[in-house]
Amino acid sequence: MSPVGRFPQEAAIACAALAQARRLRWRETALRFVVWLAVIATPVGAHALDQQQVMAGAAVLYNERIAGLRAAQLLDNDTDFHARVQRIAQPLLAQAARDYPESAAWPWEVHTTTDPEEHAYAFAGGKLLVSGAHAAALNLSDGELAMVLAHEIAHAVLRHNLQEYEAALTLEPAWATRPFAELEHAVDHDGALMAKLAPLGKQQELEADREGLKLAARAGWAPQVLAGYFRKVVQASSAPNASGFAHPSPASRWRAARDAARQLGR
Ligand SMILES: [Zn+2]
Repeated sequence: MSPVGRFPQEAAIACAALAQARRLRWRETALRFVVWLAVIATPVGAHALDQQQVMAGAAVLYNERIAGLRAAQLLDNDTDFHARVQRIAQPLLAQAARDYPESAAWPWEVHTTTDPEEHAYAFAGGKLLVSGAHAAALNLSDGELAMVLAHEIAHAVLRHNLQEYEAALTLEPAWATRPFAELEHAVDHDGALMAKLAPLGKQQELEADREGLKLAARAGWAPQVLAGYFRKVVQASSAPNASGFAHPSPASRWRAARDAARQLGR
């Protein structure tokens, strides 16, 4: 006999608890739907775009991505890598909270995956996703992995998503009258808009490299070890001097990181 069925009272309490849990789950689902609807339907607005709106939208996209990976059993599935990432991420997040006080109140989440299609991502408001496949392919040390995480944390604390949406509104003001979710989709899928935003994207990558390296150095990592991540990217690249669509060339990132590490080492 199950413990629940041993005494009628316990069974009744268990049933009540189950019913309450179901009600809470239903309420949570309903609440998520209301938030989703608000995010999807709210027009961007010429002056209304702010970090809160960007974070709410990012949370919806992140949850979808996480749910997809979980359903495919690819979420946090390498327990050693997941534990390693959490151990390295926590002091970096504590440093971010000191350097960027706004981020201390964010509901940070750090997930990992073994999906080889994934790399490393930061969603606005402190939602990170890191691929074990990328770390394994480059045989990253803990310090080099700290650089990957610090780069993503820097994107979040520097509000790069908000800047990108603001730039899109300046380039194409008509977006102000359309739902925010459409703009979110467009910056990743509308080729014409993406081409206009690419110079900003490259600038943001270099800024995330530089500020991420400095943040991780303040958290205690040796700057030269952090910069070593970019050397590995160069070594693994078949065209290290070629720029990507929205990324500077691996060689230019390595040079900039090496110079930043030298400056910090003085
Ligand atoms: Zn980046």
